[in-house]
Amino acid sequence: KLYNQVQDLKGNIRVYCRVRPFLPGQPNRSSSVDHIEEGNISIIAPLKYSREGKKSFTFNKVFGPSATQEEVFSDTQPLIRSVLDGYNVCIFAYGQTGSGKTYTMSGPKELTEEGQGVNYRALGDLFLLSEQRKDTICYDISVQMLEIYNEQVKDLLVSDGVNKRLEIRNSSQTGINVPEANLVPVSTTSDVINLMNLGQKNRSVGATAMNDRSSRSHSCLTVHVQGRDLTSGSILRGCMHLVDLAGSERVDKSEVTGDRLKEAQHINKSLSALGDVIYSLAQKSSHVPYRNSKLTQLLQDSLGGQAKTLMFVHISPEPEALGETISTLKFAERVS
Ligand code: ADP
Ligand code: MG
Repeated sequence: KLYNQVQDLKGNIRVYCRVRPFLPGQPNRSSSVDHIEEGNISIIAPLKYSREGKKSFTFNKVFGPSATQEEVFSDTQPLIRSVLDGYNVCIFAYGQTGSGKTYTMSGPKELTEEGQGVNYRALGDLFLLSEQRKDTICYDISVQMLEIYNEQVKDLLVSDGVNKRLEIRNSSQTGINVPEANLVPVSTTSDVINLMNLGQKNRSVGATAMNDRSSRSHSCLTVHVQGRDLTSGSILRGCMHLVDLAGSERVDKSEVTGDRLKEAQHINKSLSALGDVIYSLAQKSSHVPYRNSKLTQLLQDSLGGQAKTLMFVHISPEPEALGETISTLKFAERVS
């Protein structure tokens, strides 16, 4: 309740920044992050970027390299819980490849309970809360998992590996949806783990060591919630999209050609379309350009209006990544 009041005052868009730690095995080096304090982060930037040698950015929250999955989740929890009250929610992971997007949303490759990311924790929390409310409201929770690659929508929850291209529809009853994609009821965390594993397996189809497709496609775990009030019989619907975006790094157009160039152009287009949509919502602009990409079309009724948006922007600590780090932080500043 309090959260909703705070949101009403501050608008429905929040931006959190997360800094990845140096990885085990990396030589000891200095980080390009100078200082973190609550919502502020300052970056050590060469003169090319800033006259002071430092550049500061302000967000709703900044998580330093030692923040745990649990800490990150606890600041996300109220937003997730609002889905059970019928709100639509979008949570995005943005950043260059290797900055920790998948870690935040899913977890490390060898998943442990501690390592579980937002996706698992969010569903676990929805299960717990719906159980607590079961005497008054009966909830059905089901999920879809989609991939957007080269502006084509595909179902990641197929068992036969056949990955046909799907259409985004707009129905007056259920809003924007992808009716042909599998919609799977879930009620336990192990259901979710099995589905995520299937999705991950399907996502890597077509990827080779040199060709890591997951960094060049968006994956979207959509949670559909329907609650029936046991007294009045009235139905409420909420929907949450948990999106692991394609890597935001700009590829050098002079160096890539063919398929790789096409991929890069599609990613560019959809990430800037997303930025433009969130920017115009933050500006309370009367025209919101949802039609410019498949991603923003898919998420249209969960972005804007009463819907709540959380963008996690990820940065890598390595000084070599500074150019991308600054462009990530600028993207984030524009939408916050
Ligand atoms: P992305 O999805 O943005 O390409 P990943 O999530 O795959 O990046 O992260 C790159 C590597 O860094 C992985 O090995 C991941 O486990 C590790 N990593 C990312 N964020 C963290 C973190 N907060 N703590 C520990 N390891 C992390
Ligand atoms: Mg990833």
